[in-house]
Amino acid sequence: MPPVRLILILGLTAFACGRPAAAVRADVLQREAEAQLQQYRTDLEELAAWCTEQGLATEARHTLDVLGPTDPYRLFIPELPRAAGPAGPPEDASREVTQWHRRLQQIRARHGTAFYDLARRAVRVRPSLAYELALAAIRANPDHEAVRRIFGYQKYLGEWRTAYEVGHLRSGRLWDERFGWLPKGHLHRYEQGMRWHDGRWIDAEEDARRRADIRNGWDVETEHYLIRTNHSLEAGVQLGEKLERLYAIWQQLFIRFYASQADVVTLFSGRAQRRGTATPRHHVVYFRDRDDYNRSLRAAMPNIDVSIGVYMPGMRRAYFFAGDDYDDRTLYHEATHQLFQESRRAVPLPGNRGNFWIVEGIALFMESLRREGDYWSLGGLDDPRLHAARVRLLRDDFYIPLADFTRLGMEDIQTDPRIATLYSQAAGLTHFLIFYEGGIYRDALVQYLSLVYSGRDTPQTLADLLDAPYPEIDRQYRQFLAETFEHEKAGR
Ligand SMILES: [Zn+2]
Repeated sequence: MPPVRLILILGLTAFACGRPAAAVRADVLQREAEAQLQQYRTDLEELAAWCTEQGLATEARHTLDVLGPTDPYRLFIPELPRAAGPAGPPEDASREVTQWHRRLQQIRARHGTAFYDLARRAVRVRPSLAYELALAAIRANPDHEAVRRIFGYQKYLGEWRTAYEVGHLRSGRLWDERFGWLPKGHLHRYEQGMRWHDGRWIDAEEDARRRADIRNGWDVETEHYLIRTNHSLEAGVQLGEKLERLYAIWQQLFIRFYASQADVVTLFSGRAQRRGTATPRHHVVYFRDRDDYNRSLRAAMPNIDVSIGVYMPGMRRAYFFAGDDYDDRTLYHEATHQLFQESRRAVPLPGNRGNFWIVEGIALFMESLRREGDYWSLGGLDDPRLHAARVRLLRDDFYIPLADFTRLGMEDIQTDPRIATLYSQAAGLTHFLIFYEGGIYRDALVQYLSLVYSGRDTPQTLADLLDAPYPEIDRQYRQFLAETFEHEKAGR
């Protein structure tokens, strides 16, 4: 067990005199959140110590594992259990094990509620803190009803399901991880190699032949996506699962990008479901291979050969291809462009006149999404984009001050021979805005994106939102990168 590190989920906030009232209240809430986290940790450690006294080594370890991984430079999003209700102790459990199980459930339930209560108070003041507290609540108690509703779930036949899933299940469909949504009665024949095509059964090879051209490909529908592919039904379904994962995390992290404060407050009140699927699905095309991708898209994009995925805002479609060059990071990058562009009214070319760096920066940041055990994580000191940013600034001393960087429009950056270096800086600055001082700039970042995508930004926008002149932010960024470097070197 590593030594207790408090900043871990929530981070420490520097508090300054003379901040506006909301900032002061955010500091108060941040300190309460840290105290709450510490209390939770203490309660778990006490229970673990009791387990050790009883000779229950496995239970002691399990108790400490409940806290989950922590890192001030990463966000951890738990993979939530589908089954509702905590599993009981094994039937042949000893009296001590039964007692341990009951005490652990009590601690988790109590702290889940405490984190949720704090989240509700934080939601008007600092939505990003409210989100982290909601994550802490659901980690502590995955069966907390009100928190489950924040994450879009309701209870259905002993499982946590989204409204969309409940609708499908009620109409007699099931989700199969190979074939996607199917009428229950079809599954057996699918497993036998038959496919339902234009109202009749044909064999899978015939189905694949008919779908070889992307114009007649498979259409895989998921909750928020419609995926057209001519690779295979199974590959379309797998891509859909990845996109839905990204979507779920994106919509929590950037909720204030598309929802009003009033909507978010209502959502956290426990009274409302999150918005349904009223918005049109995002369209994605997944080609069988690179050749098909190049051939189909060359007319729209003459230099398509150098890309391994692309979002075309004019088509409102993201395009990818299967094969050796396929890469999850590119999928998350382009799909992030799509989510920002399509989830609210947006100008056709955000960042065209300036502030283009953040359009790329946020997509580069979302590339870091990855699975680790029972968690998904974003960020991290080992992310290659952040690493490149540190090398450019700290070793090469390459840096374009924000006062100039924010003036660069899309064309300025995309035609600059130093484009790769500019992208590295954009990625580094985005990590900074998300993790600096425990996340004090995270809500400003979301507002910044909101203004850029609605075309209401100027080169001064970011400084106004952070309430600091650019040279000061440049200095903080340099300090942040130096700190991350030290942190990594120390191997903590
Ligand atoms: Zn991009």
